[in-house]
Amino acid sequence: MAFDAGPVEPPVPPPGGAAFLYVHIPFCRVLCPFCSFHRVQYRDAKAARYFKALRREIETYRDAGFRFNGVYVGGGTPTVAPRELAATLELIRGSFPVGEISVETNPNDLTPEVIDLLEASGVNRLSVGVQSFDDGLLREMERYEKYGNRTEILANLERARDRFDPLNVDMIFNLPHQTPEILERDLDTVLDSAADQVSFYPLMTSDEVRRKMTARMGRLDRRRVREYYGRILSRLRPEFTAQSAWCFSRGRGAVVDEYIADAGDYVGVGSGSFSYVGGVMYATTFSLNAYSDRIARGQPAVTQRRALTLHEQMRYEMLLRLFGLRMDHDWLNRRFGDRFARLMFAEMAALKSIGAVVEDELGYALTERGMYLWVLMMSAFFESVNVFREKMRLHIHAELERDEDVEEAAVALERITRWARR
Ligand code: SF4
Repeated sequence: MAFDAGPVEPPVPPPGGAAFLYVHIPFCRVLCPFCSFHRVQYRDAKAARYFKALRREIETYRDAGFRFNGVYVGGGTPTVAPRELAATLELIRGSFPVGEISVETNPNDLTPEVIDLLEASGVNRLSVGVQSFDDGLLREMERYEKYGNRTEILANLERARDRFDPLNVDMIFNLPHQTPEILERDLDTVLDSAADQVSFYPLMTSDEVRRKMTARMGRLDRRRVREYYGRILSRLRPEFTAQSAWCFSRGRGAVVDEYIADAGDYVGVGSGSFSYVGGVMYATTFSLNAYSDRIARGQPAVTQRRALTLHEQMRYEMLLRLFGLRMDHDWLNRRFGDRFARLMFAEMAALKSIGAVVEDELGYALTERGMYLWVLMMSAFFESVNVFREKMRLHIHAELERDEDVEEAAVALERITRWARR
């Protein structure tokens, strides 16, 4: 993904102002070695400054005329500072007619206090980053000590049972040392757990992260993706229904995991977030210091912009829409009129000819073969986003290095404390 250089104006509202809001909280207690997201070590003072700037940025979009109809809070770990999160959600609910609120969290944050706070803040969908229930893999991912072992994760999920609609668990498949037996056990556990939705996505990395990950967790083998995905489909259905190529819900109709599959225009606020409005892609600065400074000076946090050609817009929106399994003619007409059929004729014909897509009177639908292909394409898409993140984070290496020093010291301190308690 390449963006244009030069000064950048933030997105302007589409007619009517309707758009989806993504809020990025880039803090985590422990930085997992496989993770390519934009996240830094949590620090109280840094987070307080960040949340203040974040709320100011949200107000600027409100004052510019955006009317956000839904919000997804991702990270990082959005619940790392629950009161700051609650204050941010209060501002959003008071400013926009938001119909749905999704928040990501980690299993160790599922305390009674945080669950109550999220519920009181109007959170419908809670997405818990479990990744695996296997203690061996959790250790390899360096999540066992900080985010909980299998027994603790299940107990924490139980506490959140029936409090959200849905309670989602994020799971990874094709981890380097994940055998078919471990995957089957994870599937059994999901089926028996309190979760009513699961997002089961393949491990995605970037070059830099892959190097780190290989040293700590082993080498990634992409040849297993097809077999593992097949196991996931056959084990989860019919109790779970596919809502996207990798999100499955008990029953039907819950809020889906990837808001981009549903949303047309979306605005990302916070450091390292992306927006897509009116066919233009934007990215905000990845430096947390620059982010807060820019907002304090009244400057936009957006520092990168790229206008997509009409054909690129169609390809991008088709990729995302079909990830959500259907792309209806009505929706296409609203977005592109009759130009889609003309410009995308070759792509749609190719997808139909390989059996990835079927067309009915309402529009296009992904087949089971198409779902697998979409898992591969969406992984490639997110990996290209990871590469962009990596490039952007190179500019702020000094900022991140200090964070990593702090993290390593924190992990070492925690290990010493545990050892001393034995
Ligand atoms: S996987 Fe989740 S908890 Fe781990 S570093 Fe990434 S965002 Fe943070």
